[in-house]
Order: sequence, then C-alpha cells, then structure tokens
Amino acid sequence: EGATFLLNTKVPKELVWDSLPEKVQKDLINKKMKLYIIDAYKVADETGMGVRINTIMQTCFFAISKIFPRDEAIRMIKDSIKKTYGAKGDKIVEMNFNAVDQTLSNLYEVEVPAQVTSKIQLQPAVSGNAPEFVADVTANIIAGFGDDIPVSKMPCDGTFPTATAKWEKRNIALEVPIWDKEICIQCNKCVLVCPHATIRAKVFEEKELVNVPETFKYTKFKAKDYGENLLYSLQVAVEDCTGCGLCVDVCPVKNKKETKLKAINMVEQLPIREQERANWDYFLNLSNLDRTKVNVSKIKDSQFLEPLFEFSGACSGCGETPYVKLVSQLFGDRAVVANATGCSSIYGGNLPTTPWTVDKDGRGPAWSNSLFEDNAEFGFGFRLAIDKHNTHAKQLLEKYRNELGDQLVDGLIKAQQNDEAGIYEQRERVAQLKQRLNSFISNGYSDEAKGEFNHLLSLADYLVKKSVWIMGGDGWAYDIGYGGLDHVLASGKNVNILVLDTEVYSNTGGQMSKSTPRGAVAKFAAAGKPMAKKDLGMMAMSYGTVYVAKVAMGSNDAHTVKVFLEAEAYNGPSLIIAYSHCIAHGIDMGRGMRNQKAAVDSGYWQLYRYNPDLVAKGENPFKLDSKGLKIPLADYAYMETRYKMLTKTHPDHAKKLMDEAQNDVNERWKLYEQLALSGNGKENSKIEKPE
Ligand code: SF4
Ligand code: SF4
Ligand code: SF4
Repeated sequence: EGATFLLNTKVPKELVWDSLPEKVQKDLINKKMKLYIIDAYKVADETGMGVRINTIMQTCFFAISKIFPRDEAIRMIKDSIKKTYGAKGDKIVEMNFNAVDQTLSNLYEVEVPAQVTSKIQLQPAVSGNAPEFVADVTANIIAGFGDDIPVSKMPCDGTFPTATAKWEKRNIALEVPIWDKEICIQCNKCVLVCPHATIRAKVFEEKELVNVPETFKYTKFKAKDYGENLLYSLQVAVEDCTGCGLCVDVCPVKNKKETKLKAINMVEQLPIREQERANWDYFLNLSNLDRTKVNVSKIKDSQFLEPLFEFSGACSGCGETPYVKLVSQLFGDRAVVANATGCSSIYGGNLPTTPWTVDKDGRGPAWSNSLFEDNAEFGFGFRLAIDKHNTHAKQLLEKYRNELGDQLVDGLIKAQQNDEAGIYEQRERVAQLKQRLNSFISNGYSDEAKGEFNHLLSLADYLVKKSVWIMGGDGWAYDIGYGGLDHVLASGKNVNILVLDTEVYSNTGGQMSKSTPRGAVAKFAAAGKPMAKKDLGMMAMSYGTVYVAKVAMGSNDAHTVKVFLEAEAYNGPSLIIAYSHCIAHGIDMGRGMRNQKAAVDSGYWQLYRYNPDLVAKGENPFKLDSKGLKIPLADYAYMETRYKMLTKTHPDHAKKLMDEAQNDVNERWKLYEQLALSGNGKENSKIEKPE
C-alpha cells in the first residue's frame, strides 16, 4: 500500500488512465498508489540516446523516490555519468546529461481517480493454443508466479521441453521491418543475418493460398530452381522482432524513387501488430521447401531452411546468434549441441523458455550446457556415445540379418549420408527397420530375441548420421576451456567446434580474454590490452589434421556458409572461429555487420580455410579467402568504443598500442600470405590422423 508506479508509455497523460487494464486500475486505487508516466523512448530519441533508456529511467527513479533531495540526486547521477562514460568521450557525457534534464521535464504524475473505469483485460502470458506444459508451468513463470507452481508439475529429471520461446511474445520492438515486395530481389540476406530468426522467407505453390489474410504479402518467385510459377513471401514476426535493424542495414536494394528507403524498412510496430500477428500465423502454416531439394550451398537457398533456433533472448542485434541459427538450419535435427557456459548458454536455455525448437515432425537439435572448463570434453563424450550406439546397432543388424533381410541390413550399414537426400533415404530405412522390429516383437520370438529387438529399436535412430557441435565463446575456447579444447582437437574425432568470438567475456562481466585484441579496453585491461590476440586458428592448424576456418558473416556470407558445410563434411575435428560483434564492443548493433566487414578489410580478421583433405589431393590445404590491408587498422578499430575510449583517457598510450596492433596485423597477414602461397601441401601428405 502507498507504493509508486512508474510507467514508460507512449500514451499521453490525459489518456493514460483509460488505457490501463481493469486489474491495474483496481490495484492502483485499492493500494492507494501514486502513478507517474514518462515516454522514455521519446526522450532517448530526442537526446540522441537511440533506444537506451537506462539513464532516463534511473533519473525518474531518483526524482520520484525522494531517497535524496531531488537536486542532490540529479547532481549525483551526473557525477556517476561522468565517471561511467567519461572515458567514452565528452559527446556521450553531454548526451546523457541532456537526457537527465529532458527526463525531468517529461515526467508527469497522473492523478489516480476514485473509480475503476476500464473494461480492458490483461492479456494472458501465453496464447490459448500453448501446449499443456507451457500453459501450466512456463506461462506462470513468465507471469512472475513461478513460486506457486507445484513441484509435481516440474519435469522429474530436470529436462525442460524445447520449442517454448515462441510462446513468449515480448513485443519489445518499437519499430519493425516491413517488406517492399515490388523492389525486393529475393536474396534472403536479411533472413541470414537476423539474430532472432524473426524474418523468414518461404517459397510455395499458389494452391496453398487459402483464406489468405487481407494484408498478407507475397509475390512471384523470381527463380525457377524449385519449379515454375511459385510464389515467394518474406514475413516478420513483429511480436518477437527486437527492432535491431540489422536486416535493413544489410539489404542491398535501394528504392530508386526514394533513396533513403530499401526493400525492407522500419515502421512503428504498434499500428501493425494485430495484422502482422495474423500474417505470421498464416505464414507459418505454409509449407517449407523439401530439405532434400534445397541447394544449401547458396545463401538465398540456405535461408529457405527452417531455423530450429528462434526468438532467443540474446541482446538485440547480437553477432553470435546468426551463426547458431545457421547451424540449426543447415544440420537441422541431426545437430547435437554441447554448449559452454557464457552468453550462448544463457540465451540458449534460460528459464522459462528455450529457443531451440522442432520441425513439423517434432524433431529438433538436442542441446545441453556444461561448464566453462569442460565443454569440449562434454561434446567429445556425445561423439563417443553416439559412435558406440551406432556400432552396437550395426552389430545387432548383422546378428539378425536373416530375419531383417540382406537388402535392408546392407542399406542401413553401407548408407552414404553425405547430403540431405542420403540422410532422408537412411531415415526411410530406419523407419522400415522399426516397423519390422515392432512386428517381430509382437510375433512369437524368444524373450531373449525380443529383448534384443527392443534394444535395437532404442538404438535405431543412431544409424542416422549425427552432427556434433561444440559451441561457446572465446572465454571458454581461448581461456578456461582451452586445455580440453586442445585435447579434443588432438583426438581426431569427428566433432565440429564453433567459437563465437566476441573477443571479451561478454555477459560474464566484460573481462578481457586471450582473444581480446591489443589496444582494446576491457576489465583487467583498463589501459588497453598490452598483448596481441592469441592465434587459436594457427595453433589448431599445427596439428595438420584439424579443419580450421575463420569467418565473418558481415564480410562474406557465402564464405561463412561454405565453411560450415565443409567443416561438417570433414571426417575429423573442425574448428570454426566466428567474428561476433557484441554490445561489449560499444558499437551501433544495428550496423554490426559493417564492423565485421571493416575488421576483414583491415586484415585484422583474416578469412581462411585449412582443409586437411586437400593434402591427399596434392593441394595446399590453406586458402586465404579475404583481401586484407585494404584499410588501416585504426579505421576499423576506431568505429568501436572499446578502442576509442583509450584515445580520450590516454591518447599517447592509445597511439602506441594502435601502432603496435597495426604491426601485429601486418606481420600476421604476411605469415598467412606465405602459407597460402607455399608449396602444394605435399610435405604434409605423410601426416596421419591420430588414433
Ligand atoms: S529488426 Fe532485427 S530482429 Fe527484427 S527482423 Fe530485422 S534483424 Fe530480425
Ligand atoms: S535483403 Fe532486401 S532484397 Fe534481399 S530478400 Fe531481404 S528485403 Fe529482399
Ligand atoms: S553480450 Fe554480446 S554476445 Fe552476449 S548476447 Fe549480448 S550481444 Fe550477444
């Protein structure tokens, strides 16, 4: 009773009471509360803060709470701004000061009337179509009533269902992209870069157009790869979109009539929310292309594959999640993911929802999270267990060859599963196997044989090739988990290691890692990191038996897709180091792909592939795929606050570190060029994979 309620709203003060749901009005009256409102996003926009409202909301808190006299509180906030942002430059400090001042003149108290007038009801936490567990458990956690859930409702082994993030409609974007189908060239680049899987493309037949919502958009599909007269649609899930703007930034098409517009453009979310909700639901019900027919090596086509990682709670515009999503698209339900602790474990599996999801058959990637220090070993264990199950299944197939038939047994054992078509055929054989086993179990075999049939039934799915992915950030791969990572690389086993390299412990606290570049500021490197970044790729290449690649989606998306496919196809350990822009870099996240490109253009981030399979063909296994040294390192680095802030606090030291860092770039570039030009790999041809 007597509390104060502060509401951040776009509704003007004279209309705000009528906009509140009945329950909120009741609570305000019965609990004798005070009501204040602010349009924090308007203040942020007008003061150049973009969508950052933390300073504004903090100012409101101190202005209303009267913990300190108002003037003293404002002085303390400004002192704290100076301390926190001083190193980032006077402009940022001034912007924050201005935001504080503007907050005070946009903060209003709204008189709470004596009567409840509203008929508006609070929206349920999840839609009525949600499955039982989501309705009974997830929804209550989302609504803040987690403590009321009886223990009997919780999964007894701690396993939480996947495919639940889609029920949590966060509606956090003020603006969302809207498609201009007339000028779109259907390149699907926007789909590829979306960190939240909230913009998707589909190709479908005209006959699917039944009960089409009035505002649903589609057009003729320009390519003929999947047949004649097909239709194409690009749809945004506006309630899940975070409004980061990355999709708009990468769209290559400008509207010739109005050059500031592209083939997708940001518009206010609220006025189109209802219509786009219906459009999204309709879009989801359209068929997906048959996976076995999709030419996954082309960007455009790869993006017709359904993402099985969607709507994660990663920061808006996150540079890591597009890579994670890509794994889920390319390798689908065959992906088995071991996730190190770090950002990817938090957005990958935080309660109450998980973004890992399933296809229409209820199949999706399997995911589990282990520690910082043992994730590579954790994933290695997946590989060993899968291989063991596969071997045992094959032994049982041989044992019951007569009963099962030569054709089926040979088909299952000798299956080539090098592409989606091969995988599909193996799935069909496994289905046939299960059918036969089930009929044996119900027909007069001995108990011992029935026991083995049941066992084979439980192992049958391991006859379909699995794709083991070991993922995590640089804090895991370069630092805390490096010993295990090295051990797994040396094992020769077929695992794919994806390092989401943000060059700093991101959500974990912003500390420097061994991946942090020279000159960048981070915790424990307040005066700029004095050492060069560890060259993890070069260390892995020294084995000669590891597929190693560095990628940066924002520089070359086709290269990224090629690397993921090659790494997965390589029958041994693979290491992909993926440049991941991050809020910790102090950048405009909506333009993060530009930073990736600049990093590559400067030669700081080389794109390359080292493929040991090429040695056997007499080719150089190392391919340098980027053209570096096109711009000075400083042109890239000073796009980012992590470097720039040192020029304010210690300009001479910043210059010294930048000169040294440029030297690092030049030296490493020379080394990579030499590798790319050297020999034909014959010297390496005797290298055997370790047992
Ligand atoms: S604005 Fe960001 S989250 Fe929304 S669709 Fe575009 S890329 Fe995805
Ligand atoms: S990036 Fe632009 S042109 Fe390409 S599919 Fe998206 S909207 Fe169309
Ligand atoms: S901190 Fe960085 S890596 Fe982590 S979720 Fe945010 S943007 Fe992504």
